[in-house]
Amino acid sequence: MRRKIIAGNWKMNGNRDLVRQVAERAADSDAGAELAICPPFPLLPTAASQLPFGVALGAQDVSEYEAGAYTGEVSAAMLLEAGCRYVIVGHSERRTLYGEDNGRVAGKFVAAKQAGLTPILCVGETLAERDAERTEAVVGEQLDAVCEAAGAQAFRGAVVAYEPVWAIGTGRTATPEQAQEVHAFIRQRVAERDGSEVAEQLPVLYGGSMKPGNAAELLGQPDIDGGLIGGASLDPDSFLSIYKAAAEG
Ligand code: PEP
Repeated sequence: MRRKIIAGNWKMNGNRDLVRQVAERAADSDAGAELAICPPFPLLPTAASQLPFGVALGAQDVSEYEAGAYTGEVSAAMLLEAGCRYVIVGHSERRTLYGEDNGRVAGKFVAAKQAGLTPILCVGETLAERDAERTEAVVGEQLDAVCEAAGAQAFRGAVVAYEPVWAIGTGRTATPEQAQEVHAFIRQRVAERDGSEVAEQLPVLYGGSMKPGNAAELLGQPDIDGGLIGGASLDPDSFLSIYKAAAEG
């Protein structure tokens, strides 16, 4: 039985007041699912000191390098020291706006795991790729890059987030059936590379305009193990209401 995870990706948003509001609301959260927030780097220390025990902290990106002359970069060890459990790697905004390819994303995934962080590997297709019926090819390549870099066993203790690019920040959500189909494919792909045990335990989150109104139906699908929430995570009531749907589902 996989425990559901609801993680908020604040992107370049938020401030100390939002950390305080989430921390206050999250104090009421029960143990039915895991709650995490991924605020921008400068808010990590504030969040680490204010979040109630049991609410996890994550970062939105990490360097693939351990240390050295990489101006502007933050290492996995630094994130661990700052109190992070999770780090998002390969978000579509990093892939498209900052040119991160599958090889670089795999390097970040490996760096996170080596430091003891749990990477949340984002995968997903663009609308053009979906229309060209290339969803499985694209998502398969994104998963295979990690397998090539570190072996499929690297998915043990990791998280995958299926985020169709056409559903991120657009208000357009994948239907529960569309999402379930790709989630099942992701699990099957990892199983094919590594045997079924790692795949069976692998949490696969959905991300893309998840909101209180559609969360329960998405989270009710057999292979959807939680959500990576962008816009709705900036509103503590909406975020906690999605969490409630996961905890009670
Ligand atoms: C995201 O960027 O990870 C995301 C899922 O965003 P949104 O919920 O706003 O679509």
